[in-house]
Parts: sequence; structure tokens; C-alpha cells
Amino acid sequence: MIRCISCGKEYDDDEIIYNCTCGSILEVETEVEDIPRETFENRRDNIWKYKEFLPVNADNRVSLDEGGTPFCKCEKIGKELGVDLYVKVEGSNPTGSFKDRGMSVGTTKAVDLGVNMVGCASTGNTSASLSAYAARAGLKCAVVLPSGKVALGKLAQAMFHGAKVFAIDGNFDDALKTITELALDGELYLLNSINPFRLEGQKTIGFELVHDLGWESPDRVILPVGNAGNISAIWKGITEFRDAGYIKDTPMMTGIQAVNSAPIANAVKAGEDTVTPVENPDTIATAIRIGAPVSSVKAMRAIKESNGTAETVTDDEILDAQKYLARTEGIGVEPASAASIAGLKKLVENGDVDKGERVVCIVTGHVLKDPNVAIDACEDPTPVSSDPNEIRNVIRTL
Ligand SMILES: *Cc1c(COP(=O)(O)O)cnc(C)c1O
Ligand SMILES: [Zn+2]
Repeated sequence: MIRCISCGKEYDDDEIIYNCTCGSILEVETEVEDIPRETFENRRDNIWKYKEFLPVNADNRVSLDEGGTPFCKCEKIGKELGVDLYVKVEGSNPTGSFKDRGMSVGTTKAVDLGVNMVGCASTGNTSASLSAYAARAGLKCAVVLPSGKVALGKLAQAMFHGAKVFAIDGNFDDALKTITELALDGELYLLNSINPFRLEGQKTIGFELVHDLGWESPDRVILPVGNAGNISAIWKGITEFRDAGYIKDTPMMTGIQAVNSAPIANAVKAGEDTVTPVENPDTIATAIRIGAPVSSVKAMRAIKESNGTAETVTDDEILDAQKYLARTEGIGVEPASAASIAGLKKLVENGDVDKGERVVCIVTGHVLKDPNVAIDACEDPTPVSSDPNEIRNVIRTL
């Protein structure tokens, strides 16, 4: 069943609908029988391990073996910041971001519904993922991107997997408006995170991280927030596992935004319940360059219910954290993902995170998504002749 998060109106699972008639956003209500958690132990490590919690027909799944991503304890950064730190590496998904979890379930729903065309607006990763899953499912795919604002790796993926790619003279929020009109006209099935079935796939991050910790909740989950679908989805997953009796406690959900794209963090910091959109959002972290988050109501609810918080970070703090994570722990992530580490650092410095907290940072996408940022952050390779002494002289000084 699909339910409005504001007025509670219910819709059938097979209705193609993105907003309630009251204008608010929708959520899928998952009805799960009593299942012992041992059920999940000997299954393959992907999102479908938890298929009883996914409200689509798992027999017809469109899957690239997404999920089951690395869960790395980060001793060095943890020690430096005084926390027990784990990093969930979502860049290890098939197309290099967590979006694959949502697209697997979302395109499975599209197949269930019998549609033949899917589409999305995207800052990059949504289109990279959807184009691959559409190819896998044999669906046609159209994507709308903000012209000149999509990282090269992501654009390459969307085009290479065969989507029809449109570049709009505007930002992500404009792109979403345009593609939504086409979806409401019935031209295509929209797979942005306003589609509640997308979030059903993404909630598996919440499942995995408590399972990774041996069926325990961390004290806190920190992640970058753009459209705010992911923070809402992870919270949904964790509360479903709590309600199933698999875990007792829940983590404080902590969202990080870039300082000039921070409508949710601004609201949280000001103690306001409503989120005021940011007119011209800007940040080097293009994946979270969003001024009017579609799932802001869900995200505010998740932060409030979990006793969590939100924080802002600057582009410089993001770039420093990206390099720090890569060079201290060997984990290469795109700029938006590094916002979680930058945010953790800031929250520790401000005293908002307590010493010894067990923290899980979600790093959402792979470093190769945005090769220009990575290359710009480094020295050029040193030109040498084939004489080994030239190299010897340098490496002895390292
Ligand atoms: C989509 C995306 C985000 C933002 O997720 P939301 O669900 O929109 O809040 C963050 N990081 C990366 C790498 C992404 O692709
Ligand atoms: Zn409603």
C-alpha cells in the first residue's frame, strides 16, 4: 500500500502516482510477516537478501547484484577524532553509487507495472544508475541533466548505457520540474526519489549497517543530504528492523549539506520545522547541489524522531576530507560523499558528537565519478627519463 505522509490517504500499490492529491509526498507501507533474522544469514550479499522487506516481485527482479557494500572500520581517522568510526562504501555498487539500490527496486516496479519508458532528472548518479538498470530491464530511458553541472564520469555512464540524455539550461530543481511534467502526462515512469519505490531499495543501507554491526545500532549515522531521499530511506529501514525486533536502539540520523545548498541544515540549526528552499544552490559537490529537496518533510521527520541533527560544510572542508579519507584510509570517494567525513569532523570540534560514539559514515559515490576534481587536487606526474636514478633521488626524499 502507498500512503501519504501528511494526510494519511492510501493508494493501491499499482497506482502510478508521485504525489498525494493534497500535494504531499508518499511512502510505501511495507507489510512483513514475522521473520526470524536468521533467515538472512545464508543468502547472497546483495539487497535482495532482505527481499521480504522489499514491496516488489523479487522473482522478476532487475538486479546487478547491488548492495552488500564494504563496511570498513577506520581506526586511524576514528582515533584522531575520538570516535569508533565505520565507513559504508557505497561507491562499490555496480554503477558506483548507492543509487543502484533504489534503481534495482524501482526498475523492478517498472517491469511489474508493464511500462516501457523510464526517466529521471539528475545531478549525475541517478541518471548513471537508471540508464544501466533500464538497459538491463530492456526499458527505454530519458534523462534530463543541468547543462555543464554534471561530473564527467556520471555523464559518460548515462550516455554509454544508451539513455537519451537532455541537457537543460537550468539547475537540478528545474530539470526535475520538466521531467515530472512528462511523467504526469503519462509519457514515462519517473524514477527520481519522489517515487517511493526508489526509497524502498535505498532503505537496505539501513538494514546492512545494523547487520554489519552484528545486529546492533550505531550511535549515529552521518551522510550527505541533497534531495534527502537517502536519509529518509535509511531511517525507514532502521525503524523497520527495530519494529521487527531485530535491534533495540536506533541511531541519531545526521545530515550534512554544503553551506550554499543547505535548506535542511539551515532549518534544523534555526530550530524551524519547515524547510525554505535555497534559490541558487552552489557547491563543488554536484551530487548535493539541490535547493528544494523533494523529501525534506521525511528528512526533517527522520532527524527529529531519531534525535539527530544537521550541519553544513564548506567546499574547502569537503575537498580536505575527500583527500584525508583517500590518503589515511585508502577510500576514494566523490566530493559529495566526503561531506559526511567533513561533517563528522566539524561536529566533533563543536562538541555535538561525544567522545567514543560509534559512528557510521555513509560515503555515497566513487572517486572516479568526478575525475576532474581528483586530478585538480593533485600535482601533475613528475616527468623522468628511463634512468632509475632520477626516480631513486626523489623517492628517497618521500
Ligand atoms: C544522490 C547522491 C547524494 C544525495 O542523496 P539524496 O538522497 O538526494 O539526499 C549524495 N551523494 C551522492 C554521491 C549521490 O549520488
Ligand atoms: Zn495527502
